[in-house]
Amino acid sequence: MDFTETQINRYARHILLPEVGGTGQQKLLNSRVLVIGAGGLGSPVLLYLAAAGVGTLGVVDDDVVDLSNLQRQIAHSTDSVGEPKVESAARTIAAINPDVDVIPHNERIGPDNALKLISNYDVIADGSDNFATRFLVNDACHLAKKTLVSAAILRFDAQVYTFKASETDTDGGHGPCYRCIFPEPPPEGQIPTCAEAGVLGAMCGMAGSIQATEVIKELLGIGESLSGSLLLCDGLSATFRKIALRPDPACPLCGENPSITDLENHKG
Ligand SMILES: [Zn+2]
Repeated sequence: MDFTETQINRYARHILLPEVGGTGQQKLLNSRVLVIGAGGLGSPVLLYLAAAGVGTLGVVDDDVVDLSNLQRQIAHSTDSVGEPKVESAARTIAAINPDVDVIPHNERIGPDNALKLISNYDVIADGSDNFATRFLVNDACHLAKKTLVSAAILRFDAQVYTFKASETDTDGGHGPCYRCIFPEPPPEGQIPTCAEAGVLGAMCGMAGSIQATEVIKELLGIGESLSGSLLLCDGLSATFRKIALRPDPACPLCGENPSITDLENHKG
């Protein structure tokens, strides 16, 4: 282990954990995570992964910081209003931990760049705010055989999932993907967005912190993966529920006879 004195000090509370230790911390420093969206969920995910010493953090977002973002998007501050979110987030991350190499991708993830974007990373964390992107990222991660930790949030409710359907379990099967649960995106306008229905800022922190925890578990291969489960958090009743999810053999992406073999269905 070639930690500097400063690193031993910075990561002391991780190194103390038997599940992490010096080896795990070194692994985190050598890891690459792509965070999609530097918004409500992406902010806490980025801040905790940066503080944890995940050595390379990619951030994809094509938006600029708006005043109405600051109620929940804690990677940004009042003086970054009007600035690209990836730049504002990169500055915050640099201030937290100079060990982290931030790669800002100031673009929107789409069918033309998704596979290229995710190909350089070990684990993908999706904090996007719309169904089109969530389905695209699910498909791209499955096709590229990348572990995806996804979260969604609305009002006082949050959901967190881990998908790695391309990975074979110990019993020879595999976990579900997002399309095993929701085969198609819902019709436009059927489910309100946070901009339409609101969201409690701290709920983003709750879901994003869980997402960051699951990303670190996947990077280190520790604990029980959330793959095969849906974690539901109801903030108003302070209730957490973990629901078992099964892969769908008829899933168009990860099933026995997949009809989705590229990202063409996301074009047009
Ligand atoms: Zn599936």
